[in-house]
Amino acid sequence: MTNNPVTPELVQRIEQIVGEGYASTAPDDLEKYGLDEIEERYRGAPELVVKPRTTQEVAAIVTLANKHRIPVTPRGAGTGLSGGAVPVLKGIVLSLERMDQILELDLDNMMITVEPGVILADMMRAAEAKGLFYPIDVSTLDSCQVGGTIAENAGGARAVKYGLTGDWVYGMELVTPTGEIIELGGKRIKDVTGYNLIQLVVGSEGTLGVVTRITFRLTVKPRCSLDLLVPFDELDDAVSLILELLRREQSLVAMEFMDDLSVQATERYLNISLPHHDSRAHLLLQLDGMDEDGVWRAAERIYERLREGGAKEVYAADNRLTREKLWRARRNIAEALKAQNTYVSVEDIVVPRAKIPEMARNLLELSQRHGLVVPIYGHIGDGNLHPTPVSGDRDEGTWARDLDAFVGEMFHVVRALGGNLTAEHGVGLKRTKYLPLTLDAATLSLMAGLKRVWDPNEIMNPGKFPSAVEVAA
Ligand SMILES: Cc1cc2nc3c(=O)[nH]c(=O)nc-3n(C[C@H](O)[C@H](O)[C@H](O)COP(=O)(O)OP(=O)(O)OC[C@H]3O[C@@H](n4cnc5c(N)ncnc54)[C@H](O)[C@@H]3O)c2cc1C
Repeated sequence: MTNNPVTPELVQRIEQIVGEGYASTAPDDLEKYGLDEIEERYRGAPELVVKPRTTQEVAAIVTLANKHRIPVTPRGAGTGLSGGAVPVLKGIVLSLERMDQILELDLDNMMITVEPGVILADMMRAAEAKGLFYPIDVSTLDSCQVGGTIAENAGGARAVKYGLTGDWVYGMELVTPTGEIIELGGKRIKDVTGYNLIQLVVGSEGTLGVVTRITFRLTVKPRCSLDLLVPFDELDDAVSLILELLRREQSLVAMEFMDDLSVQATERYLNISLPHHDSRAHLLLQLDGMDEDGVWRAAERIYERLREGGAKEVYAADNRLTREKLWRARRNIAEALKAQNTYVSVEDIVVPRAKIPEMARNLLELSQRHGLVVPIYGHIGDGNLHPTPVSGDRDEGTWARDLDAFVGEMFHVVRALGGNLTAEHGVGLKRTKYLPLTLDAATLSLMAGLKRVWDPNEIMNPGKFPSAVEVAA
């Protein structure tokens, strides 16, 4: 693995490429760009932070780094929860924040082309201003960059109907780890000419190159949408209804879940109150469609079924204020838990959705056995849960030990239920050591082989999967 130091000469040469003020070795910058939203104990120590403005500048920096065998870690907004943007082996952090232009909105082809540093919500608003719709509403949409969403294949609450980021990426410009600028895909809806390399880069967490331009497909903006908050006493009742409704209704877009601990944490954090806040399970459902009457008729059918099936109440948020309050509550759970505890670990497991009740029972049993408080929330319609152990009054050492024991056992249960380690937050730094639990040795070796072909000198985001995975002989 490569980690030559950044020399003063190299800093000078890179400053000539990006211009004065955009290549920094200032301690404040090195500190700021050493961490994302993962816990502090994973902090990295970059030697140089660079902020290029163009693809050519990115290519020139990467070419130099490759020649001198210096690690490069691409960085979006640093909202990642798995340490993907942490520069484990020091070197250069390459921040895409200045590449923030919306380049083209092509109405005829229903595609939008953007630079990677565009903030996700800005791209969504640009599409909506023309009556089009980009549906992937990652919770951090007001701060994360579209490049980061591609590298993580991020999901949003609406994945139930609209899938993940990767489903909307059609074209991409990439600077490879050896400094070439390549074009993948384009505005073609169908194209099977060769391997689908775009989808290899999607979700590769900055290990296969720097994404410098993206073309996303857009769809028609739904004319009507409606949100329902539904408290239940029993998670099992909620899940069996969810499974049934998914078989019967097409208008369901989002199916979010919050347990009582999560609801109470977000209430305290936002100083709001939600109805039945001590219920074991709260569902937040969203429906959408082109026909208002049709959406309301679906809502009535869903209402009836939910009440028969054990819902304590069904609250419809049909105005902007109530709807914003509900989604703010859901989106702020992770922040609330962080603010209220010294240490937290946001996990991101996924199981087949019918296995959620069994997973939840196992999580309760595990948390009691390990003496940990573990609020659970997530995207129940996708089988994606975020159990979030919190430290209580543990010191850092005890917390790290107890957490590792809990997480290791949790992943064994996940595997037994046909699930996997991460649904949308990525492997990053946190989960590399657990990969051999769910990916077999042949698969891991293929991934490592791909990485060697793309990045022979291992300069692109090194110290992460797949090269850092230790497979037992
Ligand atoms: C409170 C909270 C809620 C969240 N909710 C969600 C959610 O609902 N759904 C979800 O999927 N995630 C969620 N996340 C995680 C995170 O916001 C997403 O993964 C987001 O897509 C990261 O974007 P970013 O710009 O911050 O990327 P960063 O964190 O900066 O980087 C993430 C990864 O992408 C790589 N990268 C960034 N830009 C590029 C580029 N241009 N080229 C190549 N590689 C690049 C980095 O090297 C790193 O590996 C949440 C995080 C927080 C803190």
